[in-house]
Amino acid sequence: MPIHILPDALVACIAAGEVVERPASVVKELVENAIDAGATDIRIECAEGGKRLIRVTDNGSGIPFAEAALAFEHHATSKLASTDDLAEIHTLGFRGEALASIASVSQVTCITRYADENSGTLLRFDGGRLISQERIGRAPGTTMMVEHLFVRMPARLKFLKSTQTERGHIDGMVMRYALAYPHIRFTLVHDGRVSFQSLGTGNLRDVLVDAYGADAAAQMVEVGQAQVAAASAAPESSIQVYGYASLPTLDHANRSKITLFVNGRPVQDAKLSYAVVQAYHTLLMTGRYPVAVIMVHVPPTEVDVNVHPAKAEVRFRDADAVFSAVQRAVRRALLDNMTPPEAPTILGGWPADRQGTIAPTASSDRTTVTAEPTTATQPSLTGSEAWARVGIARQANALGSQTAPSPPATPTVSNLPALRILGQLAESYILAEGPEGLYLIDQHAAHERVLWERLLAQHELSALPSQHLLDPVLVTIPAESVYLLEEQLDMLCDLGFEIEPFGGNTFLVRAVPALMIQDDIAAALREIVADLEMGDAALRRDLEARVLRRVCKRMAIKAGRVLSFAEMQALVRDLEACESPRTCPHGRPTMIYLGLKQIEREFGRLG
Ligand code: ADP
Ligand code: MG
Repeated sequence: MPIHILPDALVACIAAGEVVERPASVVKELVENAIDAGATDIRIECAEGGKRLIRVTDNGSGIPFAEAALAFEHHATSKLASTDDLAEIHTLGFRGEALASIASVSQVTCITRYADENSGTLLRFDGGRLISQERIGRAPGTTMMVEHLFVRMPARLKFLKSTQTERGHIDGMVMRYALAYPHIRFTLVHDGRVSFQSLGTGNLRDVLVDAYGADAAAQMVEVGQAQVAAASAAPESSIQVYGYASLPTLDHANRSKITLFVNGRPVQDAKLSYAVVQAYHTLLMTGRYPVAVIMVHVPPTEVDVNVHPAKAEVRFRDADAVFSAVQRAVRRALLDNMTPPEAPTILGGWPADRQGTIAPTASSDRTTVTAEPTTATQPSLTGSEAWARVGIARQANALGSQTAPSPPATPTVSNLPALRILGQLAESYILAEGPEGLYLIDQHAAHERVLWERLLAQHELSALPSQHLLDPVLVTIPAESVYLLEEQLDMLCDLGFEIEPFGGNTFLVRAVPALMIQDDIAAALREIVADLEMGDAALRRDLEARVLRRVCKRMAIKAGRVLSFAEMQALVRDLEACESPRTCPHGRPTMIYLGLKQIEREFGRLG
């Protein structure tokens, strides 16, 4: 083929590919336009995950009749006039490319009315060509309807994922803007049903509740209040950081719940999200990440948003200053809001009625044992809460008083010495004597560890035993999880499950890992699906580990079960043989060790 200039329509399609990747990118551009138009109420309606239809309705400024068709031309914008403006962008849009790109790969209908005009405008486009323009009645504002996205681009169409997946991308996108603009009311409708709504109260915490649920929102604290905005002579005084971040009691398997905005624009910036993660240094288990919504405001001259066609990346003039401002603001919020638990002695945590018999110890000694994991002394806490508290206590020690304790005297070898069973406490803990002191073993956590290492070893050899159910079990799972489960059936098969789709949101379970044969299969599968939802679908190992951890958790002996001497002995032998006997598969301690030295100190026998 000789060299030639591409026809305009083809150029437009190629350019559109940069802006419009999938239905969610259309939603992004239309929502940004509505925000730029000053809307306070934005409704997003989708059919088939946006593949068939996306309609965004706003109550913003509208477009004058005379300019409406022009808005769909390439490089047509009302937001930028000169190159000087480019250095100082206050709007989300500025490239004048979105409407033209979207129109070139779909059928667009636009109904808009400029507030100062008496009537509105109806425009229709097909593949970028204006088909008709007429006057029509409408309240001030704009409705953009995008139908049959990519219908003339089979190559693109092929890359669209399932309706559920595309829907998920749209949900994430809308939620992000709702978080960034709490004063705007967002309504998201999928196939006729409202799936998300924010009320536009102006309060970010309200949106957090809408987006993550009341439970999660209650575990998030405000980052960087007004004082950050106060002018000071410090060089980074112009950097403002605001938002919410999770306490260590709430975490996530990956960074996907760290949502960042720069000047109201959602951004993906690995360095900034690293700054957030850094703020949790030592507060979260390794491999766990916080949930956070962080907005950074810098003077427009300090940031270049013109790096990426979809405007998802930004470049800062002083990236380090922004990084440290974010990290410090989040850290400060955490430290201000985490109250370290009172420093209990280990014995202080025993049931209150026994405490009277124990003589008080010197206060410096009390601190000495603070850092000892205190799972057993906090029986009312769930495991992760208890673990988080341990983290907080450690943190408080690390940052806190000068009387900072030396680490507790825990034997350093990872394997356990041979232990002698003494008995069971509260039907939950095994008491055992070691060469140097007393071991208090959490029977459930210990059994989880034993099962985990066994399953892992079998899995490594691809020899996880599977067992067929005499009667296959029909399980109904939440509709929004169907696609996820379908995608993971192979992975589950490798772990010993035999599951097949049974229509709608039901699945037939024919076989399970042998260990689970006595389990409540329906309940187990629903938990597993919920675990998968939390996982990183791109990381097969992460998902496998989640499933196996769940199996262990379900099958491990529970707290509250009386164990015979032989059972305790067998469990402790198995634990001794483990590679990492001291933690459960979730990273929490399986045991507390009380060294003889420490016991003697508690009794005042050591000076
Ligand atoms: P940009 O947002 O970069 O300016 P677009 O192609 O997205 O480019 O939009 C072109 C122009 O159309 C905008 O500059 C704006 O004047 C107008 N416009 C688009 N959507 C709306 C809307 N919802 N309300 C009012 N004006 C709009
Ligand atoms: Mg735009």
